[in-house]
Amino acid sequence: MNSRRTTAAALLLAAIMLISTACGDAGSKTQADTAAGTSAPPASSNTGSTGTTADASKSKPSDTPSASTTGQNQASGTSGVKQTAQTDTKSGAKQNASSSGKTGDVQVVANPADIAVLVNKTNKLPDSYKPQDLVDPNVPFTFKEKLEKRKMRKEAAAALEKLFEGAKKDNLPLAGVSAYRSHETQKTVYNRYVQKDGEAAANKYSAKPGHSEHETGLAIDVAGSSGKCAAEDCFGATKEAKWLAEHAADYGFIIRYPEGKESITGYQYEPWHLRYVGVDTAKAIVKQGVTLEEYVKNAVPVTKPKS
Ligand SMILES: [Zn+2]
Repeated sequence: MNSRRTTAAALLLAAIMLISTACGDAGSKTQADTAAGTSAPPASSNTGSTGTTADASKSKPSDTPSASTTGQNQASGTSGVKQTAQTDTKSGAKQNASSSGKTGDVQVVANPADIAVLVNKTNKLPDSYKPQDLVDPNVPFTFKEKLEKRKMRKEAAAALEKLFEGAKKDNLPLAGVSAYRSHETQKTVYNRYVQKDGEAAANKYSAKPGHSEHETGLAIDVAGSSGKCAAEDCFGATKEAKWLAEHAADYGFIIRYPEGKESITGYQYEPWHLRYVGVDTAKAIVKQGVTLEEYVKNAVPVTKPKS
């Protein structure tokens, strides 16, 4: 226990400089942008999502006031988030293994279909894994097309529908931005960015194949129904983000990459990235003020990848 804590502390500085965005939402951002450009996002109430999320926050990632809503996560706060994007290196993924107490070992999860499966920079899905119960949740998205990224696993989709209903009742209608992403899609997206920017740079904003939670069918990026600030830092300042921080667990979702936990999750704060884990687990995670990494640290993977 102590060594784990010591390791974590020792790696904090290094890790804080090596954090990247998770969603790898390189992929989803590009697609979302494209979709938003071609098909206008649903034009519902601006009242819910304007105001604090002006365009200004796009050029300059806003300091999100949501620390108060997420409670326990004020520690490294916004400065940590900002520094990180600049200085990633290839070793980043390795050093961020602090939560597992290992440095550099990538493990293949043995239970990829488990609702609480841990997928991160050191725990990857089997290459052959594809969720068997993907469905289209009946919720609005920021695009009209029938795309793979609408899909979620059945249980998560049903929960998402309820969450969207709840938000709508509170006059904060939401829209999905990007949910499921196949291993092949993630590979394509990732490789494209490696070719374009080099591996070190790509690792800043795109998850390696097998390492994206979006491949589980249990994660989704959401935005207000206007689509503003979709998968962007400025979403953190929206009423929708505050609502999600307060209510997502009631529906079985967690804000997977909370502010101030970057050194543990390996990813910067992503107020838009929801991960379904089930109501009991979600509530326990919120109550304990921990990340999924910390919550499932006793779950032992498994087998190592070949070579
Ligand atoms: Zn995401």
